[in-house]
Amino acid sequence: MKLVPLLLLHLCGPVHADTPFPWSPVTINHKEYIPLTTIRQFYHFDQETINGNRVQLQNRTATVDLTVGDQAARINGVRFFLSDPIKTRHQTPHLSKLDLTSLIDPVLRPHQIKQAPSFDTVVLDPGHGGSDQGSAGLEAKHTLAVALLIQEILGKKAYKVIMTRTGNERVPLPSRVGIINRQNNAIVISLHFNSGRKEVSGFETYVVSARQPHPAGQASVALAAAVHTRSLMQLNHARSGHHFRTLDRGIRHARFRLLKDSKHPIILIEAGFLTHKKEASLITTKAYQQTLADAIAQGIADYRISISKKERQDRVSP
Ligand SMILES: [Zn+2]
Repeated sequence: MKLVPLLLLHLCGPVHADTPFPWSPVTINHKEYIPLTTIRQFYHFDQETINGNRVQLQNRTATVDLTVGDQAARINGVRFFLSDPIKTRHQTPHLSKLDLTSLIDPVLRPHQIKQAPSFDTVVLDPGHGGSDQGSAGLEAKHTLAVALLIQEILGKKAYKVIMTRTGNERVPLPSRVGIINRQNNAIVISLHFNSGRKEVSGFETYVVSARQPHPAGQASVALAAAVHTRSLMQLNHARSGHHFRTLDRGIRHARFRLLKDSKHPIILIEAGFLTHKKEASLITTKAYQQTLADAIAQGIADYRISISKKERQDRVSP
């Protein structure tokens, strides 16, 4: 599957740049849902393919894959997890209003997000440290190594970079939140590697739960989409000289304290499993870490362009 940087999608389309949602939701199982027919019209999805329970919507720049009864979705090939399953009423699939406003719309129209301020500061939060070494006793070392590489790249691009730790020390959660919330105009990348059953591998990105209202929730989704897409593209791209065959485990919601307590857009990346023998042997290489650091830095740049209204107008006007 070919991934497309999501920023291209924003710059080329979609339509109704300044229009609020024109429809009224229907109630299914005490939740508000929007029929896909209305969503098709709004985003000019002029192609619809239905195959059993699967629905694919396409316009000039975006392809959205949904499955009736399921919470898994794809936008331009990237996996997302909805908060509510797709439901059918009167033979028409429906998407919950919560998923439309908190997930789908911020990805399709990041320039429309009300609270996605421009930023000049990136807070890098390498997970674990000190008495807490994390997954396989290796996580703290490698999250710091990748964060230092990202710091180097972003420093050259004139971002102000703040690290929640620069050595092998344990920084308690309230102190990390304190460092984050002391910044103005910032975004936050929290870096982790995963642990699980020995056969599980892949890359996942977390954003604050859509059911936990958060002022930077939509911006965090747009940031997650940009960084997650770039990471998978570059880790799986043979042209960089390496091809790590990283599985896409999707963009997911979580009720992590760090995500909830940050006042800035924030994502938490689980950049592979240290408990998977093959993946761990890649994660610990300089090549993987450099590719990952480059991809995250590029994803941050993609996000910055995608939320910029001015940039978008400049790029789309003749
Ligand atoms: Zn961790």
